[in-house]
Amino acid sequence: MPEPLTPAELLALDRRHVWHPYGPMPGRQRPLLVESASGVRLRLAEEAYGHRELVDGMASWWSALHGYNHPVLNEAAREQLGRMSHVMFGGLTHEPAVRLAARLVEITPEGLEHVFLADSGSVSVEVAVKMCLQYWLSAGRPAKHRLMTWRGGYHGDTWQPMSVCDPDGGMHSLWSGALPRQVFADAPPAGYDAGVDPAYEAHLAGLFERHAHEVAAMIVEPVVQNAGGMRFHSPGYLRVLRRLCDEHQVLLVFDEIATGFGRTGTLFACEQAGVTPDVLCVGKALTGGYLTMAAALCTSRVAEGISRGEVPVLAHGPTFMGNPLAAAVAGASVDLLLGQDWQSEVKRIESGLREGLAPAAGLPGVREVRTLGAIGVVQLDHEVDTVAASEAAVRAGVWLRPFRDLVYTMPPYVTNDADLARICGAVCAAAAAG
Ligand SMILES: *Cc1c(COP(=O)(O)O)cnc(C)c1O
Repeated sequence: MPEPLTPAELLALDRRHVWHPYGPMPGRQRPLLVESASGVRLRLAEEAYGHRELVDGMASWWSALHGYNHPVLNEAAREQLGRMSHVMFGGLTHEPAVRLAARLVEITPEGLEHVFLADSGSVSVEVAVKMCLQYWLSAGRPAKHRLMTWRGGYHGDTWQPMSVCDPDGGMHSLWSGALPRQVFADAPPAGYDAGVDPAYEAHLAGLFERHAHEVAAMIVEPVVQNAGGMRFHSPGYLRVLRRLCDEHQVLLVFDEIATGFGRTGTLFACEQAGVTPDVLCVGKALTGGYLTMAAALCTSRVAEGISRGEVPVLAHGPTFMGNPLAAAVAGASVDLLLGQDWQSEVKRIESGLREGLAPAAGLPGVREVRTLGAIGVVQLDHEVDTVAASEAAVRAGVWLRPFRDLVYTMPPYVTNDADLARICGAVCAAAAAG
């Protein structure tokens, strides 16, 4: 074992050498040092504002559905570790990956038959894009190589996903000159219950008419736009997109990396519209937050289309594709979720968030409070002071990570009512401070 390092030594090394998400080098904000995590609690190496443990309101970016250090997931990892943690997937296969793929086909909307296991959400989006571009290439229509999306989205940080992230609000405007130029519709009108606005529908139809000849696929996050602004829209727009895509020969990709596995109240958000996409991306909660794995699923039409091409293979194959350890934990996480009455848990969290966040609506500087499924959002009318807001949350014993004009939470489904109330109190405190 290496010499133990003190928290101060670790933090000094971290600051000097380690990049953090969207961080400067050297780091400016002092991260909290986590020693372990269990249930919905993060245990810190040092006290922060009187707390050694924080209730996690972030589920580690939508992923830790069942909380941390879960005995069932631990056992799945341990059991698989005893067999093999990895073997290459080219020319070899194994039970965890096969079972997981079959399970995903079974639980996702009817028609999605084929599964590409990728090593992160962004890569699954790259693969989805490649599937769509290759489909049209195989069909002898190479001009169909652009993507279409609506503003306000987030699809990841690698190159193609960046090109369909919101071009203004996001972190990627830096690259506007270097990214592939995609076709952007206005952001979908806000409001889950707002219904379909005919003027917006016409706007979409106009874009399809003008651009379908050069567009391979429309890609969107169904029902909730997540890291792009935590906005909700009517599921009706997904039906509009399905119809327009069919009429104009454009493939439809749903990115359910954040919304999948029950977060919005249905197992996949697109179920709320009764729409099956041509390609579906899942990730984040796939492994219950244990390991990095994502998947792109497609219909037989897409797979067969690619197979008819001059290059009849899908040209992608990451080194750690189908990683057995991640696949075993993912399988266990899906079974754990579906083996319980998760709908009731998500509903319970939804009403807890609605009640607990209501007071935020009366705070100065708050524009809107909205909840859907196990997602609670307080939107301010100004850029949040992230340092002050996070600090206020930690003082309340809760871990949150506000961004832009948003203080939000998507807690693990196992969060009990007392912890949920604490999270809501912290969101309100953070909104007030930020
Ligand atoms: C997080 C996210 C991604 C990217 O996934 P990574 O695993 O971070 O690469 C893509 N799309 C959506 C909707 C996401 O929320």
